[in-house]
Amino acid sequence: MPLLWLQRPVVFLWRCRPPMAMAMAMAMDMGMAHLTTPTSGTATSARRPKARLRGVVFDMDGTLTVPVIDFPAMYRAVLGEEEYVAVKSRNPSGIDILHHIETWDPDKQIRAYETIAEFERQGLDRLQIMSGAKELCDFLDSKQMRGLITRNVKEAVDLFHLRFGMTFSPALSREFRPYKPNPEPLLHICSTWDVEPNEVIMVGDSLKDDVACGKRAGAFTCLLDETGRYDSSCCDAAGLVPDFKVSSLAEVFSILEENFELKP
Ligand SMILES: [Mg+2]
Repeated sequence: MPLLWLQRPVVFLWRCRPPMAMAMAMAMDMGMAHLTTPTSGTATSARRPKARLRGVVFDMDGTLTVPVIDFPAMYRAVLGEEEYVAVKSRNPSGIDILHHIETWDPDKQIRAYETIAEFERQGLDRLQIMSGAKELCDFLDSKQMRGLITRNVKEAVDLFHLRFGMTFSPALSREFRPYKPNPEPLLHICSTWDVEPNEVIMVGDSLKDDVACGKRAGAFTCLLDETGRYDSSCCDAAGLVPDFKVSSLAEVFSILEENFELKP
């Protein structure tokens, strides 16, 4: 069941769509989303002044593309089982493998990057666009600038652009340092667009990378959680509560239309 919450501005909004509404989700997202009824005791978006939005920045893997990289397997291959278990227990919200190996000695680091690159190459072979991504980008074309930030390599971004015929600009890959969850790539995009961070929303499937990057930059954040792995206590525990949470990209239409004034 799709859930979203709005932490900002000030008003806390919690909505649940009834199960029967699931089949109508796309239609609602395409313009009838205002028919959804917030639970009692909350303010509706209609009463709230809409924030101006000028750009949408997406994560790539697991957001614009179907998640195909087996990250736990990658972490195990890089760290070894024993260290993987230890690192995982110290990082319940997720392992930041790129930062973790930065302190390793050069030879060990090179081997780790090769392992990561091999997993990413396998992922490229199976690259698939996420359901709703094309429609969302078509919707945004005349209304918003769209950018992309990924911790994957430029080669993967180039292939994504080529294969699916959608261009994001700027599209920052791992070669841009520092990478997510550092806010710098998002601030760089805002600077390139000449917009304020609070006129941008970061959309991604990682709490620790995408939501963290967006919040640290001062942008709105939307967490894509297809499988329901993030509940509110999980976000609270990580100190990373996204402004919105969706279970599909199709839901992003209504988030944008209901809560923002979409200025090109
Ligand atoms: Mg991702």
